[in-house]
Amino acid sequence: MTTFKQEIKISGVGIHSGLPVNMLIKPSRDEGIVFYRTDLDSKKILARFDNVGETKMRNTTVGNLSGAHVQTIEHLMAALFMVGVDSAIIEIDGPETPILDGSAYEFYNMFVTAGVTGGKLKRIVVKREVIAKSSEIKVNVFVRLKYWILNKIAGRKTSGFVKLSPNNNTGLNICATLVYPEKVIGNQSFSYCYDGSKKSIDVFAKNIARARTFGKYSEWEYLKKHGMGRGANENNVIALNNQGDGTLNKLIWKDEFVRHKIIDAIGDMFTSGGFINADLVSYKGSHALNNLVLKKLFSNPENYDII
Ligand SMILES: [Zn+2]
Repeated sequence: MTTFKQEIKISGVGIHSGLPVNMLIKPSRDEGIVFYRTDLDSKKILARFDNVGETKMRNTTVGNLSGAHVQTIEHLMAALFMVGVDSAIIEIDGPETPILDGSAYEFYNMFVTAGVTGGKLKRIVVKREVIAKSSEIKVNVFVRLKYWILNKIAGRKTSGFVKLSPNNNTGLNICATLVYPEKVIGNQSFSYCYDGSKKSIDVFAKNIARARTFGKYSEWEYLKKHGMGRGANENNVIALNNQGDGTLNKLIWKDEFVRHKIIDAIGDMFTSGGFINADLVSYKGSHALNNLVLKKLFSNPENYDII
């Protein structure tokens, strides 16, 4: 179990709600990353894969049975994983984490500055291949329609998968591929191997942590009308132009898009509560697929060992 040495205060706006939000992250003695919604009588929500809702398409949301939820936890979770913190209390006064700069960079730096104390993350060793395909994602008819409209607008075809395979306990080796009709993205792949070493953490900090989330400018109006993307601006989202051949703000790397997918995958995998040891292939992956592959992994104890 590892936690922070001191409390960390983080304020900002939620990317979907557009509302100001304050978080107070406190060291904890109990296992798990636990949110408390201070605006809802401190309703408790464990940030774990089995509390992730299935219907939110652009982010990872955790909720509890009484309906309290916290949206867009993935970048925060990725930063927690990279500093090795699996135990913290997060008081939050709204339904969504602050988006900050749209990446994991600011979270990560604040966490490094705060310092951590404890042992190592528990290892979850994948023993059998598990795959989640986009055709398996269960969504209700309204969500399906929303997906369809957004994909239609973006000209995307939905046929992706996320696969976990055994790799002799060598770490979490992620290979992500994006396939977009928009020229500025096109086909992009990026690989990242995390083995717990300082070197692999430095690679994350240098080459991945700053990669921002992205969206099509033409979709913003639609999203905003449907209660999403209200806090999005040029400081926290890469906006693709209407032609899809460029961006309205400057890219850090040409393949910043797929690098961001690595952050999302790391954050989502950490809802397992530990360090997944597997090769992870994400082809046109999504938060829903990341979550489904974890649900499938943990559905059968023969799929994994915890050490
Ligand atoms: Zn993201």
